[in-house]
Amino acid sequence: MSVRDMVEKDYYAALGVPKDASATDIKKAYRRLALELHPDKNPGDPRAEARFKEVSEAYDVLSDQSRRREYDEARALFTAGGVPGGHPPGGYGYQPGGFGSPGYGGAGAYNLDDLLGGAGAGGGPGGIGGLFDNLFQRSPTGRGPRRGTDIAAEVTIPFEKALSGLEATVRLPGAATCVTCMGRGARVGTTPRTCTTCRGLGVVSRSQGGFALSEPCRDCLGKGSVIDSPCPDCLGTGRREREQRIRIPPGVADSQRLRVRGRGSPGERGGQAGDLEVTVHVLTHPVFGREGHNLTITLPVTFTEAALGASVKVPTIDGAPLTVKVPSGTSSGRRLRVRGRGVPRGGGGHGDLIVTIEVTVPRPADLSPKARTALQDFANAHPEDPRMSLMAQMEGRS
Ligand SMILES: [Zn+2]
Ligand SMILES: [Zn+2]
Repeated sequence: MSVRDMVEKDYYAALGVPKDASATDIKKAYRRLALELHPDKNPGDPRAEARFKEVSEAYDVLSDQSRRREYDEARALFTAGGVPGGHPPGGYGYQPGGFGSPGYGGAGAYNLDDLLGGAGAGGGPGGIGGLFDNLFQRSPTGRGPRRGTDIAAEVTIPFEKALSGLEATVRLPGAATCVTCMGRGARVGTTPRTCTTCRGLGVVSRSQGGFALSEPCRDCLGKGSVIDSPCPDCLGTGRREREQRIRIPPGVADSQRLRVRGRGSPGERGGQAGDLEVTVHVLTHPVFGREGHNLTITLPVTFTEAALGASVKVPTIDGAPLTVKVPSGTSSGRRLRVRGRGVPRGGGGHGDLIVTIEVTVPRPADLSPKARTALQDFANAHPEDPRMSLMAQMEGRS
């Protein structure tokens, strides 16, 4: 994560959570948005794709305690003395002279590049960029070979693919500069133009109650420039995700972690590479569920099928429906087991398909007079009180 990312991007706004959100709330918000915006669900929708990336990037940072702290600290530094009343989403509030540190006051407008680059920022040694480098750069320790760090990543896959296994593209945290546009975000051959609203300053002034306030320009979101023709490879962000293809084995479970040896960060001075640790999220299915290696399905049957017994068709996840025999006298909630039609096991073989019977009751509107009479006849012919045993058991206790 670059300092620029830390300052420019509002990861909390991207996830729609408050700044003091708990880790659980952040995870929940991410899961909900990731499911909604997942490319598999929005094929060919570049806006959803861009949002998906934005949300993923925000989660990468906010889900990691130490990275979240760095991010909070960076933003707190940059927004200190900023616009009262908080910052608009995606913006960052700072006002001329508002840094409160000698050397920066009264400079008028700040160009983030100047500040971060150190050169020309004036003031303290190395400028703000130097300060941040010191704060966030982890200096290598020791002289011998050093193993590369492990990289944690996440991937979300459809329910069916968790059963069959797949080659998945895993997006690694920490985006890299887009090589197509060299990070400028503009389509090759075009240039970002200076924002006319703020004349490239990134901030606009307005007066309120006798005070002159500066706030980020809404037209360019404080960048000072506007991209009319965005780079198609990074959608104008100037950043591109790093990706890795990994093999996900059949039968993977939701929240399972896969460790891919040697696919993390490269080692230093001849040290071996770290590992890639991928947490797999499996999307839910409208019909099937999972209990470990068993597939589950709820199967509606009519009252007469349950009472008299029947052979009924059950959909399968991977092919033609299969026929299941519902024994006569089957109650609602009974679980039938179809061996070997569940989830593949790592060591070979499959779990079972668990069919839970749900007896349906016809709605009055669906009953013909003839059917209604037949039901009444049945009730008369079969007087029964299924609550008898409950009563008897309660009597036994008193
Ligand atoms: Zn680009
Ligand atoms: Zn502007």
